[in-house]
Amino acid sequence: MKKRFDISAVLARLAEAVQALAVPVVDLIAVQTHDPYKVLVATILSARTKDATTAKAAAKLFAKAPDFTALAHLGEERMAALIRPVGFFRTKAHHLAQLPGVLRERFGGVIPQTVEELCELPGVGRKTANLVVVVAFNKPAICVDTHVHRIMNIWGYVATKTPLETEMALRQKLPAQHWLTVNSILVAFGQGICLPVRPHCDVCPVEEWCPRLGITPRVPPAVREQARMRRQAQGGWRFVSWNVNGLRAAAEKGFVATVAELAPDILALQEVKAMPEQLPESVGNIAGYTAHWAPAEKKGYAGVGVYVRQGREPLAVRYGLGLAEHDAEGRVLTLEYPDFFFVNAYFPNARHGLTRLDHKLRFNAAFLAYVQALAAQKAVVVCGDFNVAHREIDLANPKQNEQNAGFTPEERAWMDAFLAAGFVDTFRLFRPEPQQYTWWSYRFNARARNIGWRIDYFCVDRKNVSRVKDAAILSTVMGSDHCPVTLDFA
Ligand code: SF4
Repeated sequence: MKKRFDISAVLARLAEAVQALAVPVVDLIAVQTHDPYKVLVATILSARTKDATTAKAAAKLFAKAPDFTALAHLGEERMAALIRPVGFFRTKAHHLAQLPGVLRERFGGVIPQTVEELCELPGVGRKTANLVVVVAFNKPAICVDTHVHRIMNIWGYVATKTPLETEMALRQKLPAQHWLTVNSILVAFGQGICLPVRPHCDVCPVEEWCPRLGITPRVPPAVREQARMRRQAQGGWRFVSWNVNGLRAAAEKGFVATVAELAPDILALQEVKAMPEQLPESVGNIAGYTAHWAPAEKKGYAGVGVYVRQGREPLAVRYGLGLAEHDAEGRVLTLEYPDFFFVNAYFPNARHGLTRLDHKLRFNAAFLAYVQALAAQKAVVVCGDFNVAHREIDLANPKQNEQNAGFTPEERAWMDAFLAAGFVDTFRLFRPEPQQYTWWSYRFNARARNIGWRIDYFCVDRKNVSRVKDAAILSTVMGSDHCPVTLDFA
């Protein structure tokens, strides 16, 4: 039985709890410096950037430009080089270079203290302005960033679609004593416990009040490990396949924590877009796993890889199809086990204007011949990004896409042929409903609106379909424009 939601009690409990968590970088800079200039600049840097990255970039910048006068003389190029790891560093450097001049001309060189005036400064939006008013000037304003917006909606305290709507709703109903502190409390809480993906409800200090609207909590680590050991004792496997659209980018979005959360026996990745030596140590060597990579020759392009749980090593690893045209692009990686082959594939994209359709159809034909030859020996599990939605049910807008890459008659006909050759689309064994997708464009807010495509698959040869225990799409797992898909296999 949940307690009646009481915002003051919840925020008081969280204020205590977050003392043990990392302090948001902008608050830290405010406390350390008491300098509105540094708070304003650090807040501009922090947009769409991790706190650790903001802290490093801010320290480098402030070492060279401790005030507006020095900032005015630094120059945009030099500034861009100093802040480079932060998101949109060129745009931010451009805004920061303009800042001293605009401040001088419009505000006599003094940082204004109202949200409306601050919004006139280059690179300052409403969220930044609210944060500067609160943190630098200790004046009432409500800074609504993604964490405040998200968590207030999870609690049902507001029911809003955008941070601006949330700010306006909070201005109406949030008691004034919380305005100054709500942002820093919820940012620390949102970064440490109530995470955007799989919040840690099992250790949440306000769980007794929270209705958990629209979230999927993480499975507690101990429960997860028990389930994994039970599966392994029964000889079962948990396979996960995920097009990460750049493993280094995914690493910045919590990839390693997601792997721990999913606890796969084999994790197959597509579109790694990196040479193994370019991967950060924490990603190249995930504790408890051995990785195998088949990168493309061209840097930053395609590439597949697998992580294999230690104790589940294959008999052999095969790289590619044995065809130079395709193997140069890092498309296929095969693990051989005593009683099955595991094939991870990243099919070519036919591309806009279908400029690579012929190439893709050549790959498809070679791939089918390859997996048929394997299936003649033992069971075959095929997974990956096939870059095709098979049927109309597999994409949100089939009619508009009939001649587009990924849904052309030629690509769909190949998928028909692949299934007719004896492979089974495991997801549809369990879930025949529409509107279940694995890829969403980054544009048009497509993921939030579920305007997607199902183009990532786990397929199994028909003779071994009885070994398939479950297949799913993990649409709430973020970190790429694709989400992971899973197969439980006996
Ligand atoms: S119970 Fe879960 S969803 Fe609710 S506030 Fe706590 S961590 Fe967030």
